[in-house]
Amino acid sequence: MENFNELQQEILRLKQKKNALVLAHYYVPLEVQDVADAVCDSFAMAQRAARAPEDLIVICGVRFMGESAKILSPEKTVLLPSPDAGCPMADMVTREDVLRLKREHPGAQVMCYVNSSAAVKAVSDVCCTSSSALRIAKALPCDEIIFVPDKHLGSYVAGNVPEKTFWLHDGFCPTHHKIAEADVLAAKKAHPAAVFAVHPECGEDVVKHGDLVGSTAEILDFARKTDAPEILIGTESEIVERLRRELPGKKIYGVGSSFVCPNMKKVTLEALCECLRDEKYKVELPPAELNAARVSLDKMVNS
Ligand code: SF4
Repeated sequence: MENFNELQQEILRLKQKKNALVLAHYYVPLEVQDVADAVCDSFAMAQRAARAPEDLIVICGVRFMGESAKILSPEKTVLLPSPDAGCPMADMVTREDVLRLKREHPGAQVMCYVNSSAAVKAVSDVCCTSSSALRIAKALPCDEIIFVPDKHLGSYVAGNVPEKTFWLHDGFCPTHHKIAEADVLAAKKAHPAAVFAVHPECGEDVVKHGDLVGSTAEILDFARKTDAPEILIGTESEIVERLRRELPGKKIYGVGSSFVCPNMKKVTLEALCECLRDEKYKVELPPAELNAARVSLDKMVNS
């Protein structure tokens, strides 16, 4: 444990003492990722928690990630180190919005990005991740799809599934939405040999420049495997830091200067240590909501 600071060592001790599984999302600070048992995309954290033998799970991420873990592992104790870390995009759509859209488009099925609350998942027909969205949309047995909450991921899917009609909710991730096409063009001009890997939560005019459009895990995989020595990253800044550390032989650049999710940065070492020590901030969901949300998540996994 000699490379860890005092707080990190205390977290590792608590983890062992309590037989807890700590899972971190790629966007939380690297020093938090370093003490986690695994670092994953949001839904992968929930799946990992469900497979694990541990009964105490700590999800280092925002609220909807803790909810997804609880939905897949209702019998386990799921803790969130920073209960005030929410996701502005998830908060942009409510259960009532989904019910209204269903009334307006009675022939459509509701496809819900996992970056959403349990209440919204509970009234949706199927969930999707950014990596499974195209496959799920193609496989849904309907001609019309209501997509919530991310208008950017929704329009990316709609553009690639032209045989279906899409009704998009107008939510967006403020962190990815902020990046403009001008930022990409400036970065490409500064690094003309670089390939560009971008997340589909960015706007259409940004995504169209991508050599790879994919989830966080797909972006990491692309960066590791590409022969290109220079890579431009179109997603949250922690990915740039992670790749710079992991791939010292490659040049990794961010796009724009403020690609930061402030909610993910609320998950600090102090918050994680306190949460583990006091076993506090348990994720609780009403059983009916949990069970209904589980149906939408299971359908995603099985379709
Ligand atoms: S990066 Fe965007 S979608 Fe992800 S948690 Fe932050 S606000 Fe939500």
